[in-house]
Amino acid sequence: IMEQIHRAEKLNIVSELAASIAHEVRNPLTVVRGFIQLAKNEVDNTIQGYMNTAIRELDRAEKIISDYLNFAKPKLDVKKEEVNISCSINEMILLMQSYANLKGIQLNNHIDQNLFIEADDLKFKQALLNLIKNAIEATEQGHVDVDASYSEKKGHIIVNVTDTGMGMTKEQLQKLGKPYYTTKSEGTGLGLMVTFRLIEAIGGTLTFDSKLNQGTKATICIKGYKKEATNIHYIDNDSIA
Ligand code: ADP
Ligand code: MG
Repeated sequence: IMEQIHRAEKLNIVSELAASIAHEVRNPLTVVRGFIQLAKNEVDNTIQGYMNTAIRELDRAEKIISDYLNFAKPKLDVKKEEVNISCSINEMILLMQSYANLKGIQLNNHIDQNLFIEADDLKFKQALLNLIKNAIEATEQGHVDVDASYSEKKGHIIVNVTDTGMGMTKEQLQKLGKPYYTTKSEGTGLGLMVTFRLIEAIGGTLTFDSKLNQGTKATICIKGYKKEATNIHYIDNDSIA
């Protein structure tokens, strides 16, 4: 199961990374190409020749991106679907349970039922998985708590992943999400970079609160709502013969 989690994380990181690179690099290329095309009309033949060469090379770069990175589509088309994230959160906790057990760490949950968001469920789950994984890895002994609730006055759903692990200094906190920042011998330093992007893509925010040697709390805040349970059956008197 650990192999599975590890592979899923890596695969996702690679495709997310490829998608971001493809998308981010393509935009400036298009802009540069456009301006060269414009400027071409203003210069003499020799310089036009240079500019054609520049455009050809830009097109080649574009083709390299298409051929090698295109399998990961740009994440513009954010899927909007109604998702019961109480269920999604429970699923991810279940998935990480054996990893926590393996390290002798208790993984607790306090999840309000029937919390809903309108966003791509896979992105949310992947982000949460990365946070829980980090929390477990930061903890030598103790527990990791995942809680989720609805804040009525803000219309937000708050998901906290709290650990009693090693914690971070202010300087370390500021580095979170920077590509390749890792303090682990086997770390990639890409998990949080991807996580920040995922949360941003679904319109949420991710913040961290941490005290060195005491623990860390990661908080996802996202627009959502809570549905009241609807499994109450009323008897319609008129229909009783
Ligand atoms: P990786 O897990 O591969 O190191 P991440 O991007 O997931 O990469 O995390 C980057 C770094 O942030 C970690 O190496 C660790 O130093 C720090 N970090 C992340 N989450 C926590 C946490 N819950 N407690 C303490 N440090 C953390
Ligand atoms: Mg990680």
